[in-house]
Amino acid sequence: MIRVAIVGYGNLGRGVELALKQNPDMSLVGVFTRRAPDTVTTQGAQAYAMEDLVGKKAEIDVCILCGGSATDLPEQTPALTKDFNTVDSFDTHAKIPEHFERVNQVGKANQTLAVISTGWDPGLFSLNRLYAQSILPEGETYTFWGEGVSQGHSDALRRIPGVADATQYTIPNEEVIEALKAGQKMNVTTRDKHFRQCFVVLEENGDAAAVKEAIVTMPNYFAEYDTEVNFISQRELDKEHKAMPHGGKVLRTGTTGTDTQQVIEYNLALASNPEFTASVLVAYARACVRLAQEGHTGAMTVLDIAPKYLSPIADDILRRDL
Ligand code: NDP
Repeated sequence: MIRVAIVGYGNLGRGVELALKQNPDMSLVGVFTRRAPDTVTTQGAQAYAMEDLVGKKAEIDVCILCGGSATDLPEQTPALTKDFNTVDSFDTHAKIPEHFERVNQVGKANQTLAVISTGWDPGLFSLNRLYAQSILPEGETYTFWGEGVSQGHSDALRRIPGVADATQYTIPNEEVIEALKAGQKMNVTTRDKHFRQCFVVLEENGDAAAVKEAIVTMPNYFAEYDTEVNFISQRELDKEHKAMPHGGKVLRTGTTGTDTQQVIEYNLALASNPEFTASVLVAYARACVRLAQEGHTGAMTVLDIAPKYLSPIADDILRRDL
């Protein structure tokens, strides 16, 4: 039995609690939160204070870190990898190499293993981009997201001073997708591929102009896109913008032989982004524990992990069903 602790109980934390119930080889030790545990309503799991986590070290094989990428994970992943094997979903793409280096050093120094930046993007999409590029070396890879709510971007909006609550939709340009699949050669920029739409609730004294400026100039999140900012009431946000669908596709168009057109497409249509991401984290938590048992330490990403480690099924059965 793989014994799991959930660290941080937001959308992803809730999703991990549900996903663990679908994996009989894994058990939940508890939810560890920075808030007062009696104020956190779980779906049955025992909630503990973060301060109690290290005391339960002997009962935990892996911590699944469910904090936000903007400010939680850059601190929590290196700090907790000192004592535990960890899995996170750090999704600020531009900062993954830096995050990897920090966590790798901690893991190597403390004989622990951290699997960083799992989920679907980064995560399953990263794997599919690598497969597609390796198989069709002559071609182009495109990633499209949405239409859906990006939790990373919504999280970043909510951390801007003056913002009470917010939801961000990523909207792909379907015309561009169809043209690429039809084999049309195009020079598509980041701005051509997606549009970002923000629905923001201001705090009582929030300054709309300052908040809008902070959003549209935020590097890595909004500055490189056409971004629309709408200020709405909490009531409207709760009524219209609290579901969390997402998805997207990895597309590679390329040629083999003399000029034979080939298209690889990997598509995800997710009614709940956090429940799906949580399911990916749980599968990688299994891989993390097994690889740690084999003596691996430091940091790994999805690119370093063979698919068989994700599965509870024995290697010989996997080969039989190949
Ligand atoms: P949330 O904002 O829901 O939760 C983040 C943290 O905030 C929690 O761990 C929790 O920590 C704290 N928190 C949650 N609710 C409350 C509350 N009511 N009051 C105070 N604090 C609260 O974020 P998500 O779970 O939606 O997403 C986490 C991260 O997952 C995102 O930042 C994103 O980067 C990443 N992600 C990655 C994906 C990928 O494909 N790689 C896909 C989707 C998400 P605590 O319990 O300690 O207070």
